[in-house]
Amino acid sequence: MSVVSSVCCYCGTGCGVLIETDAGEITGVRGDPAHPANRGKLCTKGATLHLSAQASGRALYPELRTHRESPRRRVSWDAALDHVAEKFRAVIREHGPDAVAFYISGQLTTEAYYVFNKLAKGLIRTNNVDTNSRLCMSSAVAGYKATLGADAPPGCYDDIDHAGTIFIAGSNTAYAHPILFRRIEAARQANPNLKLIVVDPRRTDTANEADLHLAILPGTDVALYHAMLNVMLWEELIDRAAIAAHTEGWDALRDRVRDYTPEKVAPICGVAAADIVQAARWFAAGPTLSLYCQGLNQSSCGLDKNAALINLHLASGQIGKPGAAPLSLTGQPNAMGGREVGGMANLLSAHRDLDNPEHRAEVARLWGVDDVPATPGKTAVEMFDAVKRGEIRAIWIACTNPAQSLPDQNLVHEALQTAECVVLQEAFADTETAPYADVLLPAATWGEQDGTMTNSERCISRVHAAVPPPGEARADWEIVRDFALRLDPAKAARLFPYDSAEAVFNEHRETTRGRDLDITGLSYALLDRAPQQWPFPEGVAAGQARLYADGVYPTASGRAHFHAAPYKPVAEAIDARYPLHLNTGRLRDQWHAMSRTGKVARLFAHADAPVLSMNVRDLELRRLKAGDLVRVKSRRGEVVVTAEASDSVRPGQCFLPMHWGARFMGGRGVNALTLPTFDAVSKQPEFKHAAVQVAKAELPWRMAALAVGDGAKLLDAVQPLLRACDYAAAGLAGRDRDVLTLRLAHTQPLPESLLAALDAALGLDDPLAVMHYQDKPRGISKRVRVDGGKVTAARLTGETAIFDWLRDVIVEGADATPLRAWILAPVTRPPAGGAGRGRVVCNCLNVAEPDIVVAIAAGADLAALQATLKCGTECGSCVPELKRLLSARRAAA
Ligand code: SF4
Repeated sequence: MSVVSSVCCYCGTGCGVLIETDAGEITGVRGDPAHPANRGKLCTKGATLHLSAQASGRALYPELRTHRESPRRRVSWDAALDHVAEKFRAVIREHGPDAVAFYISGQLTTEAYYVFNKLAKGLIRTNNVDTNSRLCMSSAVAGYKATLGADAPPGCYDDIDHAGTIFIAGSNTAYAHPILFRRIEAARQANPNLKLIVVDPRRTDTANEADLHLAILPGTDVALYHAMLNVMLWEELIDRAAIAAHTEGWDALRDRVRDYTPEKVAPICGVAAADIVQAARWFAAGPTLSLYCQGLNQSSCGLDKNAALINLHLASGQIGKPGAAPLSLTGQPNAMGGREVGGMANLLSAHRDLDNPEHRAEVARLWGVDDVPATPGKTAVEMFDAVKRGEIRAIWIACTNPAQSLPDQNLVHEALQTAECVVLQEAFADTETAPYADVLLPAATWGEQDGTMTNSERCISRVHAAVPPPGEARADWEIVRDFALRLDPAKAARLFPYDSAEAVFNEHRETTRGRDLDITGLSYALLDRAPQQWPFPEGVAAGQARLYADGVYPTASGRAHFHAAPYKPVAEAIDARYPLHLNTGRLRDQWHAMSRTGKVARLFAHADAPVLSMNVRDLELRRLKAGDLVRVKSRRGEVVVTAEASDSVRPGQCFLPMHWGARFMGGRGVNALTLPTFDAVSKQPEFKHAAVQVAKAELPWRMAALAVGDGAKLLDAVQPLLRACDYAAAGLAGRDRDVLTLRLAHTQPLPESLLAALDAALGLDDPLAVMHYQDKPRGISKRVRVDGGKVTAARLTGETAIFDWLRDVIVEGADATPLRAWILAPVTRPPAGGAGRGRVVCNCLNVAEPDIVVAIAAGADLAALQATLKCGTECGSCVPELKRLLSARRAAA
């Protein structure tokens, strides 16, 4: 067995991992004790990374189709790249360079990002290169630049240990950045006086831990921060010396916030004026570390929200010292690295700006090209709009899944259908975007390629290949280089002379010389010894943990700018037809569009289907009960999901997880509902709010199925059923083997041909192995396959009440003999005590909620739960939920 160090490929915490391999296969993963971000810890997602490194569902060979209606066929790399080069050349010749575009990803290495950016802007001469980081961090970028002068998060994770107040805004850190939340828990234990303020419309597990939870109404953050500044002014809690010495624009901001008194703002935000006053006092007392994420970023006024929060830091002197900083939490593992190389439609290498002629000239000189085009490129939403209009004719998508993740999915699918040529560079062949690919280029992924990534605290880590890529998959940067060499061989030989990821890094490093993120002192050799924070110019011994300690900011005047924008409401108001505020966000055990986490069966144990959380008053108002199927409609589309009663949302609001797309549910997924309206500067869309209506979905026909097998292949097999039904939820269960779970509901029975195809795919068509029960008048039929005395597959049509219980029987591989009567009998209930073991709260130790609830009812506290059931003793990701279950019990007592 050998061990290779790398970085987790999920969130921007950037945890170090040690990958264990045996005979060329990844066999295990553990936290790297030497990595400064996580010090050996991993959350549920990171700890199961090795389970996602299977060949099933992978793109293994280049594939190509010359007609949209034909299936893709396996071809050689030469044939695939020659075809794409010819297609792109033809489009550019006929329609100009802006008729092609590249939509890339915050999951690429910095090196791959750099090469893509140079290909588009240096060789092809289009700025149409944007990334899914636009959906994630561009408002944070805009906020930093508008106030501090550069896209440079000033703080670091160690500030958690020095803070007197931690102000979490628009982030369910306990779910989305769990290892950082572990650090917050540890800091609170070490310092009982540490105050935790959480601003979030929902009472999340993060909010549940807060000393003060400000459950603001959706989109009202700017009003809240202005009101907090108003309090600081009245109570003389501002740092007048710092304002005078290091900032400009104070008078305009002071005048702006004068009217934002706590009393006036309280009804706007839906929180008590006294709580606003308390938040302002704790914030100003400091040292205050703000941690913030999509609640601020994914907004039609995301820049204003970010800047209004940074205003508070500048005005109260909470910046540039230990424990005091605004620190945006990066959603993706390398959104920061992408920004460093300028891999977006409005940026250039090393934090240069496209609209700055000097910056364009500098980059042209560094690259050895005549110039860099000045016309701004299309950003994510604009890019797919332009594809739909026919303005962009050929689009290259790399390492991202726009047919699930962009807002307003109906528009995105139309765009992908309209494109003349869609190239998809992907590790996974089964994403929602894959069916649109005319050319599929198989890419290496986590554990298979070399490079670097930068996390939320400006810390650059090496990622290493632990195993070779499967099939003919190649490193992302190599694919781009090889395409460039075909597109324009003479120029590309000079511009893309790279023979390794390190050669790309060294060129990128040189572009940073003299810039705010200068990394000229770094090398692969140094990074192999330990991750390093930037800036790290030549000659220094260490990177800089905190920025702006000297009060000098990278602006023309050297002073930070206050941003005095007024509060603006959400882009789409609720009305009589769409009366509910919909919020979308992350779950603990899934990540983004589930391309990777959707392959790990045990990650479905915490939540196995998309569920709409609604306040019980809104359920009652609509005569709904928990567990009902509901139709959620926005002005753009609709989905059918199960509703649950949740006190985490206030009346008038509801919440859907962001992860489920058409591969795992019916329709076009959660983003069929969301809004493409974006911030005017950051161009980041408003995922965090849409106006919706919710009504009961009358779908009398029900079906459910279960089957043991290769999860990715079984999910492939059920795709036609997902498309045929109004309600569909497909997923996986199990720990040591995959079990497909499928639940369907529709207005009428599905055609027999579809059911027969499903039976064949699940092995339920073998009369020798399958037990069959049929009650035609009642529309009930059940098929159960038993192999070696164990149930291995089942289809339940018309009556599905035993689904949960039967799933557990299959997952546990229990003996089916004593259960035959219940499995096939015309009863709607399983045997006594067989209601299914329920949702798994502790994924590491496989502890389910009902067992925890029973222990709590018997008097267990957290320590007793950990001692007896062992839950919460491994990665700790479930500890906030355990505490919530305990406080729910206390409240009910
Ligand atoms: Fe990966 Fe979890 Fe660390 Fe994020 S917090 S980098 S998902 S292990």
